[in-house]
Amino acid sequence: MKLLRFVLILGLGIYCSFASTSTNIFGALESKELRENVSMFGDSRLVQVTDRVYLAYAYDLVNAVFVIGDDGVVIIDTLARVENAERALDSLRQITEKPIVAVIYSHGHFDHTGGSAAFSPTDSESSIAVYASAKWPRYRQELVSPLYPMINRRLIEQVGFAVATPGTERYEHVLGPVYPQSTTQSYVTPTHTISGRTQITLAGVKFEIVPIPSEMDDELVVWLPDERVAYAADTMVQMFPFLATPRSEPSRSPRGLIKAKDILLDWEPEYLLFGHGPVVSGQSEVKALITNSRDAEQSLLDQTIAAINKGKTRDQTAADLRLPAHLANDPKLIDAYHRQSWVIKGLYSRLSGWFGNDVLEMVQHIPVEEAKRMISLAGGPNAMLSKARAALRAQDYPWATQLSSYLIRADQRSDSALQIKIDALKAMAANTHSSNERFYLLSGALWLERGGPIVPAFNLEGQTDMVPTSELIELLGPRLDPIRSADTNFTINLLVTDTQESFRLTVRRGVLERRSGEHSQPDLVLAMGRKALLAFTTKLSSLEELLRQDRVVQKGDASHFWSLLN
Ligand SMILES: [Zn+2]
Repeated sequence: MKLLRFVLILGLGIYCSFASTSTNIFGALESKELRENVSMFGDSRLVQVTDRVYLAYAYDLVNAVFVIGDDGVVIIDTLARVENAERALDSLRQITEKPIVAVIYSHGHFDHTGGSAAFSPTDSESSIAVYASAKWPRYRQELVSPLYPMINRRLIEQVGFAVATPGTERYEHVLGPVYPQSTTQSYVTPTHTISGRTQITLAGVKFEIVPIPSEMDDELVVWLPDERVAYAADTMVQMFPFLATPRSEPSRSPRGLIKAKDILLDWEPEYLLFGHGPVVSGQSEVKALITNSRDAEQSLLDQTIAAINKGKTRDQTAADLRLPAHLANDPKLIDAYHRQSWVIKGLYSRLSGWFGNDVLEMVQHIPVEEAKRMISLAGGPNAMLSKARAALRAQDYPWATQLSSYLIRADQRSDSALQIKIDALKAMAANTHSSNERFYLLSGALWLERGGPIVPAFNLEGQTDMVPTSELIELLGPRLDPIRSADTNFTINLLVTDTQESFRLTVRRGVLERRSGEHSQPDLVLAMGRKALLAFTTKLSSLEELLRQDRVVQKGDASHFWSLLN
């Protein structure tokens, strides 16, 4: 078995300039509702569900399921961090000494796979079976796509990694507690793939595993018929459904999420376990919970489609759409994770593209121009500033945010405006009942204080083996500076020595073309192994550094090419 382990450092140390007085988070938490919602997690512990089944609860942002079979233990999902998984494993060892024989990944998100090394033997002789959907490689590749900095930054924002003050041992997110000191993330490569409804016996326990593209395209739901336990993975939470997410997730399927619930309902579970949140037991409670969740999704999807077809705008749809009253008032559907309006806007955009049904979007002035005119309408920058201040005092925080944003955008009285915006964002973050909103807003405030968001570096060196070399080359495209290279015509042959691949790159007046093969008379030849290519393309090392270390050999002058890249 190939064991991949690497350390993910989320750069928590760089936030040390934001000391917090009374809290371990950059910002207060005033919402009683959210405080109550996150207080349910309590201490890390194993929750016994049946004779054989335990839920590893509050060891991490996420749960793991331990199934104790006749002659071994099967683990469903592995927590996000190796340190947290090791703590859960210690607790398991209080109950049984049986060996771990198999791991099942419900999907590829880091929070369900990152602790996997803790459950896997470290010697190369022994091995355990690791099951995942046959679709698992796509997401691993997405993680090394040119969009990785966005994917990682939004994750950091949503979960609050960025705003935890240094030294924080634990803080609460509505998905589960976060332990910022645990930073080791691993990925044990699947050994068995599942491509259709599969019945299998592991350690003497019957499992039914069903792949259902839903929250992710590689999602699996799991049924233990003899235990009457269903594992919903991340196809649902006991909150407002997440048919869309601000993090994007190109593979998310709203209809798949509904279908996943139909699969769960057909099993008629006595116990329902989730990737996040507590166990729900009792056949009628489980049935009601799943039914309301699927009906909320169905209603959201159908009503959004109807609004799009009627020509209703995106923002008005998000503002007006109402679930049937019994769902709108269901405490198990509160939007404590993503806000309802975000889900509707995301769904709308996914279904109909960027155009939100208002032709104004096609012709409106650019944001800076709009800002200047709004300031002028308000009576000038000072008048706008005092209106923004008044909105802040009146606790109309969205309006204070909007008015101060005009000033910042137009670069007028922007220092004072910046402070108003930061204060408004923090006030909304303190008062919202949504964990994600809280952390997105606090991250937004932090970026304003820092002068820009962090651009996370790739930290995936250990888990890129399955990524084609041509995809690594793609990472260079967004790094070419189109202005600095506007007058440049330059050709490069890039030879990957260990895989015997060659690529011909052309900088053609602000554009980087990348193709396979070689130019006959290139301006520059760079020869390197795949590891060096990875370090270069993901910015883990600079080209100069790699040249110095003799990991890259050049024919011609690489410094010119290097100077064109951001
Ligand atoms: Zn999850």
